[in-house]
Amino acid sequence: MPIHGDRAMEFLKKLSFPRLGGSEAEKKAAEMIAAELREVGLDPRIEEFEVWSFANPVAKVQVLEPYTADIEASALGLSGCTPPEGIEAPLKYIETGTVEFINDVEGCITLATGNGGAKGYERSKKKGVLGRILIGRQGAGLFNLAVNSFQFERFGKLPSAWIRYEDGLDLIRKGAAKVRLFVSQDEFKTMSRNVVVDIPGTSEPEEIILVGAHFDSVYDIDGAHDNAAGSVTILEMARHFRAHPAKRTLRFVWFGTEELGLKGSWAYIEKHAEELKKHVFMVNVDVAGSIIGTNNASVMASDKVLNYLDVMGKEYGIGLNARSSIYSGDCIPLGHKGVPSVTFARGGGGPIHTKADTVHDIDAKHLAMLGDFVLDFTSRMSNAVSFPFPREIPESIKKQTREYIENAGKVLEDNAKK
Ligand SMILES: [Zn+2]
Repeated sequence: MPIHGDRAMEFLKKLSFPRLGGSEAEKKAAEMIAAELREVGLDPRIEEFEVWSFANPVAKVQVLEPYTADIEASALGLSGCTPPEGIEAPLKYIETGTVEFINDVEGCITLATGNGGAKGYERSKKKGVLGRILIGRQGAGLFNLAVNSFQFERFGKLPSAWIRYEDGLDLIRKGAAKVRLFVSQDEFKTMSRNVVVDIPGTSEPEEIILVGAHFDSVYDIDGAHDNAAGSVTILEMARHFRAHPAKRTLRFVWFGTEELGLKGSWAYIEKHAEELKKHVFMVNVDVAGSIIGTNNASVMASDKVLNYLDVMGKEYGIGLNARSSIYSGDCIPLGHKGVPSVTFARGGGGPIHTKADTVHDIDAKHLAMLGDFVLDFTSRMSNAVSFPFPREIPESIKKQTREYIENAGKVLEDNAKK
């Protein structure tokens, strides 16, 4: 029962275009996935939800003192706009941008390797930072990332831009003391969507195994590895289970707007709150297809799952690196609601969230390599006489999940009540 690698590759090429959450292109991608499902006789639903999105981001960074230079930059989506003439301010390097480094920054533009999470964001605002310049990863192009709306809705806007690693190094080495930062973009609320389809179980229809992959991309990037490849992988799985229904219900969900803060999966757990008790497991595929790469499984579930995957990985001989770990993806909101998961990822291709994330280093063979494994794992679990894994999440994973959500800036229900 293999994945049809060539067919998956064909659809992957069609789906690899920029599909920012909330854009017309994302809507088109959802319709393309739904059309493929209808073609095999399935009846997908499109579940809409509201999101913050943006368009036409522009950013410029100029060094004014003690030397002058223009530096190429990309706007951090949803970070707001500077006045049209930009902001002129002293530049202060604050390492990782986390709270301990955010001191004596009033009236400054900060330079950091990360956005410091919700706490860093909040402290930057409180301490009077005017704007931020973020340094990209070594060897990668400009990032096209965005701020999670959980952060700016609570703390306000902080215009920010990404620059390349080498340019960041240059600014620090040459002692850039004063810069001008210009950021502009259109920001608006709009609709995004999840594509959902059920294949009812033949004997245990009340037990649901969610098979998920996000289908959106970051701004202006093909998002072939991340995550058109995961989307076509689970589409192949849906075709398989349509032809060979399992004992348990399989629910396939293509999540929208993952890249702007897991918005599709947050919307899903809200809309399906009543049903979540029936969700016994989630199989998530996020980043796949690299010709050069390694197969990983992040297990947010009992160690029984970890051990099982380890053994099964050896049966397949695919060098599966299974570990107990959270994954930054749609498994987080589900895990928060007690649904155990495994996220499969084949990393190693061009850096994701940059222009390098294209189909050029993906092929049918490597789509099928991880796809076949995920399909078989899901098939064994969904056809087992008794469900093999407890509906449990280890305490350490629960704690990491909680920290992840707090770092993203979301106010957790129990904190909100305090
Ligand atoms: Zn992803």
